[in-house]
Amino acid sequence: MEQYDHCQRFLFEGLDIRGEIVRLSESYEEILANKEYPPAVRELLGEFLAAAALLSTTVKFDGRLVLQARSQGQVPLIMAECTSDQQLRGIARFSEDLQPEVAEFSDLLRSGTLAITIEPDQGESYQGIVPLEQQSLAACLEEYFARSEQLESQLFLVCDGQTCAGLLLQQLPAQLLRDRDLRREEWSTIRQLAATLTGNELLKLGNEDILYRLFHQHRVKLYDQKPVIYHCSCSRERTARALHAIGEVEIMDIIEEQGEVEVTCEFCGRQYSFSEAELELLFESPTRSKTH
Ligand SMILES: [Zn+2]
Repeated sequence: MEQYDHCQRFLFEGLDIRGEIVRLSESYEEILANKEYPPAVRELLGEFLAAAALLSTTVKFDGRLVLQARSQGQVPLIMAECTSDQQLRGIARFSEDLQPEVAEFSDLLRSGTLAITIEPDQGESYQGIVPLEQQSLAACLEEYFARSEQLESQLFLVCDGQTCAGLLLQQLPAQLLRDRDLRREEWSTIRQLAATLTGNELLKLGNEDILYRLFHQHRVKLYDQKPVIYHCSCSRERTARALHAIGEVEIMDIIEEQGEVEVTCEFCGRQYSFSEAELELLFESPTRSKTH
């Protein structure tokens, strides 16, 4: 059994199909320690975290992937972020009168949209949005991939409140297997085999065991595990940029009322306070918000 939170890539030899497995316990626990969540929200956040970690492995440059859902349901906002070097953070807001009996995905995120944002360290961000019309996060993400990337993907996400795990299967552009029918057939076989995986197996089995259990008739190359850790990327500088973006008039109004501006990072609880003198300096340098 793997000792630490990780993701691990695998490749089907001879087929243009890749996969990725993620399993999170410690980082998940650290993220949950920042805020008290009802069980249904804990589990939903776990799925978002596992999904963000899985999808971050599809990003081919330094940066971060942000999964964010907004809804009219019991969870108006939930987000998970994972950087390309697998640093993870996440947060959810939930209605105070959340009833455990209405804890289905469609209740929690009723009339919602899911945004997938890829933010490179250098260059423009890219965002795709899908309505949350499916019965699970995994199904919504599959729809997103089908619409935006034209690459078929299959996702499994599971969370028991202590551990969250995910499996991603994804077609790659045709390279090794160019015959269309054969390509479709192989993908369908892999999908059917994967569909026999239970949530409990995904949570409890080691990765080699999972792959053997599902795909022992295929040749699968398993890559090294990459550790995933909890790390909040907030900083004084980023907070200052956010204040700059809010605008001088609003911020100076707060200063007038309170003498300083205090910002608490919702992800980790860290507090940043800015004095009037610091903020005056900030608003004197108009290029600051543009440089990053
Ligand atoms: Zn933070």
